Amino acid sequence: MKQTYALAIHGGCGNVVRGRFNEEQEQAYLKTLQESLRNGQQILEEGESALQAIESAIRILEDSPLFNAGRGSVFTHLGTHEMDASLMDGNRRRAGAVTGVKRLRNPISAARSIMEHSSHVMLAGAGAEAFAEQQGLEFVTPDWLFDQTRWDQYQKALGENRQFMDHASDDQKYGTVGAVALDRHGNLAAGSSTGGITNKKHGRIGDSPIIGAGTYADNATCAISCTGEGEYFIRDVTAHRVSALMEYAGNNLSEAAANAMKSLEQIGGHGGFIGVDQSGNIVMPFNTQGMFRGSVSEDGKLFVKMYEEV
Ligand code: ASP
Repeated sequence: MKQTYALAIHGGCGNVVRGRFNEEQEQAYLKTLQESLRNGQQILEEGESALQAIESAIRILEDSPLFNAGRGSVFTHLGTHEMDASLMDGNRRRAGAVTGVKRLRNPISAARSIMEHSSHVMLAGAGAEAFAEQQGLEFVTPDWLFDQTRWDQYQKALGENRQFMDHASDDQKYGTVGAVALDRHGNLAAGSSTGGITNKKHGRIGDSPIIGAGTYADNATCAISCTGEGEYFIRDVTAHRVSALMEYAGNNLSEAAANAMKSLEQIGGHGGFIGVDQSGNIVMPFNTQGMFRGSVSEDGKLFVKMYEEV
């Protein structure tokens, strides 16, 4: 019997409330989310892999300055970009990740290259970039990655000697991105990509490139991509926790998602995640005011949302 397919994406979460964005900005966010979903859907429709779909959907979000990943990434304390990304193939639980890259147009593609063309899972900084160069991946300059809004946020954070977590104040930036998918062959995949948090210390690594924390996929359970205060997701091993609850506690995806959110909240974490299981069920829990998100499945129903309510 022909398997169904499903795809969900997120563009980060935080103080995403009505009145914060004008009509034009709202439309720009929703349009880019739709474009990313349509792109991934086409790939799944044609019977290609979940891995291909999530990489491609994430590349569109990385290329948009609206989201905090690739172009439009936030600034570190030193005024530089340090981007993180990872992806995982639920089929054989293969994974790839990069951390602290400064010059790559699409960190998610570097993560995939590491998974497919090296014997490693994660490469950092200059070593990751050297590998990406050998693989022929595209490099960009800091000017290309620059976004004025991110720079203004960085200046404010520096002035106040604070780090802007997405999820704490009016000054939040928005937008770590991620995608999860089920393909027609029954394979699950997940990926996440981010610039991290504004005014982070040079060398700080969040959850997004850490397999099990920000990203996880296993065909036997689910595929998960997280967004939020990375330090908490690392401590709670959130993405893998959802999978483990399904595997060991017999939870279904929505029970596992609710239990993982409860666990995150117990340690004071803010954020959310997207998840999909073998039947194409999708979850998108978050405990912030909003989350840029969307999904599409074989029945053709596509939706995108940013606020808590519809
Ligand atoms: N989780 C990301 C990090 O901590 C940030 C985010 O999702 O906005 O680097």
